[in-house]
Amino acid sequence: MVLQALADLLLPRTCLVCGRILGAREKHLCIWCEEDLPFTYYWEQIHNPMANELNALLERYRPKDESMSYVFAAALLFYHHENPYKQIPQALKYRGNRLAGQYYAAQMGRYLASATQFKDVDLVIPVPLHWYRKWRRGYNQAEIIAKELASALGARLGADILYRVRRTRTQTRLDAESRLKNVANVFRIRHRPSAPHHILIVDDTFTTGATLSACYFVLRSALGPHVRISVATLSVVQN
Ligand SMILES: [Zn+2]
Repeated sequence: MVLQALADLLLPRTCLVCGRILGAREKHLCIWCEEDLPFTYYWEQIHNPMANELNALLERYRPKDESMSYVFAAALLFYHHENPYKQIPQALKYRGNRLAGQYYAAQMGRYLASATQFKDVDLVIPVPLHWYRKWRRGYNQAEIIAKELASALGARLGADILYRVRRTRTQTRLDAESRLKNVANVFRIRHRPSAPHHILIVDDTFTTGATLSACYFVLRSALGPHVRISVATLSVVQN
């Protein structure tokens, strides 16, 4: 605490959301912004809007001979383009702020571990970045989140199970169907996981679910129908 106070004197830290200078006891947000975090509480609701959207997409594109059970999905925070709380996932993704990402992912891990539909997860798989992008950024933001979730859930981290075979163009302007075409055949299995019971696929933000669906189908076809596959992200885009 004394060291933090000293460090703050030399180089003041600011709240990620409002920019106010942080006190020694404040971690990444000031107490006011921390108080107002836009939690989704989706981990308390099996049929939440994000899970419904993902399941609709999976249902539309699943192989016709395959029956599907409802896929569990949750995010920690709402993401809105006009809301300054988008700074939390963006700090992790674009500005190298791994500590804030880890902090909120650990918080999410505690919520997931308390939810009946997630607490038996035994393998956590981050959505992979293309190696070139990972090399440029220095890390995969989904892997940072996945590591915290795995630790909170007492699950293995499977960061080398999936890989991305090519870079995809930026998806920000595409709708769900174009996004799914954009990411179809992009993911492959590198190492087949040994006998998982319940897999959690993790990404930083859920927008349309296309990337997560592509990972879901790759894992589903490699592992067969008996492994449960769920989804978790740090934030979910709210339109
Ligand atoms: Zn603030």
